Amino acid sequence: MGLLRKNCPHCLGKLEPGQRIHPACIGGYADAQQAKKARAEAKKAKTAKKTERAETKRRKEALKKISELEADCRKIVQEIARIRDRHDGCISCHMGPNYDGAWHGSHYRAHGACSSLQLHLWNIHKSCAQCNLFKGGNIAEYRPRLVEKIGADRVEWLDNQPKSQKFSREYLYRFKDVMGRRLRRMRKSAK
Ligand SMILES: [Zn+2]
Ligand SMILES: [Zn+2]
Repeated sequence: MGLLRKNCPHCLGKLEPGQRIHPACIGGYADAQQAKKARAEAKKAKTAKKTERAETKRRKEALKKISELEADCRKIVQEIARIRDRHDGCISCHMGPNYDGAWHGSHYRAHGACSSLQLHLWNIHKSCAQCNLFKGGNIAEYRPRLVEKIGADRVEWLDNQPKSQKFSREYLYRFKDVMGRRLRRMRKSAK
């Protein structure tokens, strides 16, 4: 005994006794089954590709030096600072927010000279490229404006931080993850 069906698997209409599918529905049913299979395969391939990309990324991250991870993290906080300061002018000069050149996330205490503050947002403020690239951050101008912006206490705290600090791999991965997500949220809401 075959499978007893009352309804056509394709159009769901009623079948005659002994029929398993309407003869007119056979072609359409086969096509629909084929399309369903193709969709399932495409979905599987997409998932596999995504997994592969994640795995490649994970391996690439695992091979990075600490200095490279720090550079990745700095890039993230520098952009966060630029977005936070998007309505401000340059921290180190008179350049207003409408300046159409490049804006940087400028470290008050340079990251090369003070690694402990390289990722600290109090230490990073929006500045024009001129000040950051060609005037070494223009620190003589930076400091008084920073005092005005975040307060003398915080600037003093920055001044008193140790020069170097080692960040662990785990800290930097976590930082990239958490601050990367924060950055993506900020990018969206700043649009
Ligand atoms: Zn049918
Ligand atoms: Zn400037």
